[in-house]
Amino acid sequence: MKKINLLFYPMVVSAMLMQSCGGGGEKPAEQATTEEATEVESEENFEYMAEQFADLKIIRYRIPGWDKLTPQQKEYVYYLYEAGLSGRDIIWYQNYRHNLEIRKALEAIISDYQGERSGSDWEAFMTYAKRVFFSNGIHHHYSMSKLKPGFSQDYFASLLAESGAVLNGAAQEAIFDPEFDAKKVNLDPDKGLVKGSAVNFYSPNMTEADVDAYYAKKIDKSDETPISYGLNSKLVKKEDGTIVEEVYKVGGLYGPAIEKVVYWLEKAQGVAENQKQADALGLLVEYFKTGDLKIWDDYNIAWVEATEGDIDYIQGFVEVYNDPKGYTGSYESIVEIKDFDASERMKVLMDNVQWFEDNSSIMDEHKKENVVGVTYKVVNVAGEAGDASPSTPIGVNLPNANWIRANHGSKSVSLGNIVNAYENASGEGFSEEFIRTEELRNRSKEHGTLASKLHTALHEVVGHASGKLNPGVGTPKETLKSYASTLEEGRADLVALYFLLDPKLVELGLMPSLEVGKSEYDSYIRNGMMLQLRRIEPGENIEEAHMRNRQLVASWAYEKGIADNVIEKKVVDGKTYFEVNDYEKLRTIFGELLREIQRIKSEGDYEAGRALVENYGVKVDQELHAEVLERAEKLNSAPYGGFINPRLVPVMEGTKITDVKVEYPDDFLEQMMEYGEKYSFL
Ligand code: ZN
Repeated sequence: MKKINLLFYPMVVSAMLMQSCGGGGEKPAEQATTEEATEVESEENFEYMAEQFADLKIIRYRIPGWDKLTPQQKEYVYYLYEAGLSGRDIIWYQNYRHNLEIRKALEAIISDYQGERSGSDWEAFMTYAKRVFFSNGIHHHYSMSKLKPGFSQDYFASLLAESGAVLNGAAQEAIFDPEFDAKKVNLDPDKGLVKGSAVNFYSPNMTEADVDAYYAKKIDKSDETPISYGLNSKLVKKEDGTIVEEVYKVGGLYGPAIEKVVYWLEKAQGVAENQKQADALGLLVEYFKTGDLKIWDDYNIAWVEATEGDIDYIQGFVEVYNDPKGYTGSYESIVEIKDFDASERMKVLMDNVQWFEDNSSIMDEHKKENVVGVTYKVVNVAGEAGDASPSTPIGVNLPNANWIRANHGSKSVSLGNIVNAYENASGEGFSEEFIRTEELRNRSKEHGTLASKLHTALHEVVGHASGKLNPGVGTPKETLKSYASTLEEGRADLVALYFLLDPKLVELGLMPSLEVGKSEYDSYIRNGMMLQLRRIEPGENIEEAHMRNRQLVASWAYEKGIADNVIEKKVVDGKTYFEVNDYEKLRTIFGELLREIQRIKSEGDYEAGRALVENYGVKVDQELHAEVLERAEKLNSAPYGGFINPRLVPVMEGTKITDVKVEYPDDFLEQMMEYGEKYSFL
């Protein structure tokens, strides 16, 4: 549910691939080699990586399909985007009570400091400042621990003095005393969930018991449509011991920023694509004005039912992960436009899904007579703010209220251009290290992105829809138990792989040539046999279902093809590579495994399923694993990524917006300073 994040190695789970439910694996995409980012960057030479510091990489993303929007749609996006950024200060306050004053001091130093702007102290200061910007505060966005400054308090005092800036004692203590408010969110009960957490959802004099007592009185557990208690408020304990809720709303806590949010949302309402969107926005505005959580629910219902149109958004106090008690939502905004290419691909596959079923390698008795494709939704991000920026989810599934999900449905989206930017950025150096020949590198560069997208589309639309159970056989969860999801993902991957080398895809206009399919075969084998191992710790076996299925498919195919040298293991200068020699034969092997896994599912053959997964998908070749980790480490790729937003610039005629242009800034610090200047409302 909710938000889906991407973690780079050495994390075990690649959430990105869980979200897209398989996808094409981690593509060692290459960097464009243009010397500089210019305004006329084309899709091919777009520079995804901006910079890397500490454990962070800063990535840029494009907004594909922008030119397909009408001027009014662009205006709509622009207003939503401004609304999002207008609330930016809120997340700083929510994350920690001293964050905003610290940020303002950092901004003042960066813009006004007259002294020496070089040397190790200055570098350490700038790195610290950028890390703080990245985390929307002084605690690490992921580990939750306080960021270490790397320069002395005296040096900082001199920076302040020579910038004409001031920062109070408590805020300075927060920066320099590692024990003081050490953790943003503490989930260790011994330290106290509320007391031990620095987040600003409860006044510092409150304990977990206070919070529990307050909500115990407030929440009616028998209510079948409960409002989201505490979602938009801070609990404050007064001197006399009474507890009050300070509500985030116009005229309430964070009122000045929320007023600006409302200003832009009202403009958006006026240019919405349809009445349902406008009605939903009207409710959102009313909610921000009143803070009434009943209206928040009404809004969510209206929002989830507004499914027409090319533009959508997430806006408000939404996810509750930052609250150790799970009540209060962090401010966030994501503005999304439809991924037109992905939608087109999906439509073509949907229209032909029966052809794929009829021509699959599975046994006739397991084929569906009337197969219906599975829809999946890809959007492109036009701008993010608050808790969703610079670090972003790669997929979102909302709303969070279970009763609304059950009664009215939910929206689940994959953020396509973000995933794509991650793939492109994480590939720096990878291709050079893990692809042996120029020819293979070129194929990956030319076709890798499309290959990966096609794989995902086939996997989702055709793969998961294909095949049927034998009469009387229980669900895979019942019959295949803990192996069900690995086998299901393997099955969907194999459907994709089997058809990726079928001329039918060229005929349908989905790919220009079979080179695309070959590129996916190269990448799938490379990833399944080796590359994905960089995501697990030394000595561990594979646990995660998608990783298991990829190794299963790749290593089974490798073994079956040994006699004919279908996939060859090459060791050159001490480096291991797995390369495909015979694509047609590999396709046949994929088809055989697909047929077998479908049989296992259709018959509920637990023993055969267990054997496949345990023999091929779980155990790790320790030597190869060590090699992969060593080679990956040398590439020095930061584990966490975050993004520079595009800048939307309205073209005015008098007071009327006639068009909106997109610019792609390439300097992270510059964007942070620009936001500080433009969107400081608290
Ligand atoms: Zn899947």
